[in-house]
Amino acid sequence: MSGTKTGEAAFSPEALRAKYRLEREKRLRSDGNAQYRDLSGLYADFDKDPYVEPGFTRAALTEKLDVLVVGGGFGGMLAAVRLRQAGVHSFRIIEKGGDFGGTWYWNRYPGAACDVESYIYMPLLEETGYIPTEKYAKAPEIFAHCQQIGRQFDLYKAALFQTQVEQMDWDESAQRWSVTTTRGDKLAARFVVIAGGIMHKAKLPGIPGIETFKGHSFHTSRWDYAYTGGGPTSRMTRLADKRVGIIGTGATAVQAIPHLGATARQLYVFQRTPSGVGVRANQPTDEAWVKTLKPGWQEERIRNFTALVSGLPAEADLVRDGWTYLFDSTESRRAESPEKAVELHQLANFRKMEEVRARVAAIVKDPGTAEALKPYYDPLCKRPCFHDEYLDTFNRPNVQLVDTDGKGVERITPTGVVVNGKEYEVDCLVYASGFEVTGDYTRKLGFDIRGRGGKSLRDAWADGPSTLHGMTSRGYPNLLMISLIQSSWAINFVHILGEQAQHAAYLIDQCLKRGVETLEPTEQAQAQWWGTIMSSLQKGHVFGGAECTPGYINNEGLQPPLSVIRSAGYAGGTLEFIDILRNWRKSGELEGLELTHSAAPRATGTA
Ligand code: NDP
Repeated sequence: MSGTKTGEAAFSPEALRAKYRLEREKRLRSDGNAQYRDLSGLYADFDKDPYVEPGFTRAALTEKLDVLVVGGGFGGMLAAVRLRQAGVHSFRIIEKGGDFGGTWYWNRYPGAACDVESYIYMPLLEETGYIPTEKYAKAPEIFAHCQQIGRQFDLYKAALFQTQVEQMDWDESAQRWSVTTTRGDKLAARFVVIAGGIMHKAKLPGIPGIETFKGHSFHTSRWDYAYTGGGPTSRMTRLADKRVGIIGTGATAVQAIPHLGATARQLYVFQRTPSGVGVRANQPTDEAWVKTLKPGWQEERIRNFTALVSGLPAEADLVRDGWTYLFDSTESRRAESPEKAVELHQLANFRKMEEVRARVAAIVKDPGTAEALKPYYDPLCKRPCFHDEYLDTFNRPNVQLVDTDGKGVERITPTGVVVNGKEYEVDCLVYASGFEVTGDYTRKLGFDIRGRGGKSLRDAWADGPSTLHGMTSRGYPNLLMISLIQSSWAINFVHILGEQAQHAAYLIDQCLKRGVETLEPTEQAQAQWWGTIMSSLQKGHVFGGAECTPGYINNEGLQPPLSVIRSAGYAGGTLEFIDILRNWRKSGELEGLELTHSAAPRATGTA
């Protein structure tokens, strides 16, 4: 067995490989995604919006529009901003929440903050003239920025909040989408942009007995401050006499647990798989640095980060944080052969996770707790986390880690949580159990889409989607989708959203300018795009996570169904995907789209 020297520590790659395998096998379960419950039926109360006054009503609308945007998170807002900038003003934005913000509307749990640097994560900083107050801004600041974008680009007057699409049909005679909503609206839109979000559908673990719990419980994305007291940045004073349990130790829990630990009388953290938690080193924005920024700085910084975390060379590392350290591939890029590059990359991953484990040992005083908090998997198997108070929270006398050794919570009773046959009594149970990420597109949206000939998108995509660039699909004219499906993925996800929003607005604007009534991709263009995705798999940027511990990143460790396989995105890296879209737009040919024209002038609307 060979040992690899790294600074002071030596490790054996073989031993780590075996340990990773063991930890993965411990966690594999045959029910995969079916282990989770969505927030409907018995669990519908979990989905209620705690941030709005109950009893909201408004008159139903009947309107003709150029564009309907579904979703008021970053994706939908950016699409709307780009539409306005292109001179398209006849649009509505439908949003389930009571305001703009999407993720940042819903996720108000204590400690919520962006985990990617705010100077690259928060969009439109140059257009709005806003500079975040910290390197990693907290949720209320990001939510306020969303509201500022809403005001500055006059999006509020187009918004229909607390509203969800109920039905969406292509009306062949009108050449429009006919959309009805939960508020009784009847909207006839020439184009629909769907920006439904990738993590908007919260899930609960299907733990036996979950419905019998008689204490108070909620999901992290519906934080109940009426119960806990306090707010996202102030002490939860009402927990001072409460025993609180939190189920889950993913990226959300890592941010929330220090705050629960600081306020609850007793906190039990129920863990199935530990997160890897690196150094955060948040800091206030340096005013002197701000003064040095030149026009175009944000785009440059965003691209620099995306290049580095895609394993591409860059002259400088502008962000210089845990992410760019984790993805630093200088060593493997210098390798003399692809095989050597893979070997060096794997060794670097082992070394970086050894550092993460050493950090746990250095901070957490109880050796048993420290061992249980050490993650044994490759860095990207779970969303890497960065936090400076999380690990130290387990040194508090009122905080207990209840490690389930990969098995998960056994049972929930009316009074508490059972692990290894022992009941932990709690007054309040917080589910930090995450969101549906993969899975049927329309099920996640919450409505089906019926295109030409009444064909349901759910049926059409039963064995997987067919698209051009992940954004348009044959049989669904004038429908533009902003999603992960057959598009691309990025650590800084807003980078991709911004490009997709730009692309959607370009298509709509071009159609309106050129008198195009409908657009949809040809069969051939869809097949070619799938071919492009398939050949991009050779480029080595793909991360299937087959050897990872189960989680949403690898379909819970099970062989994915055809529908998920066919959803795969472009694997040549985020920047290449963006270049494909940009070059396609630059040519101006609208290549691969089938167009029908009308003599009618550009439509006008009121919103
Ligand atoms: P995750 O899906 O990452 O975590 C869910 C947690 O619940 C996991 O620890 C999981 O364990 C645990 N769990 C599930 N079932 C059980 C069970 N039966 N018993 C015990 N534990 C269980 O959800 P999060 O909300 O934490 O994060 C989702 C994503 O949101 C992140 O990956 C990230 O992309 C994003 N996020 C982004 C932030 C940002 O700042 N931009 C901040 C927070 C989140 P196991 O790992 O074993 O499945």
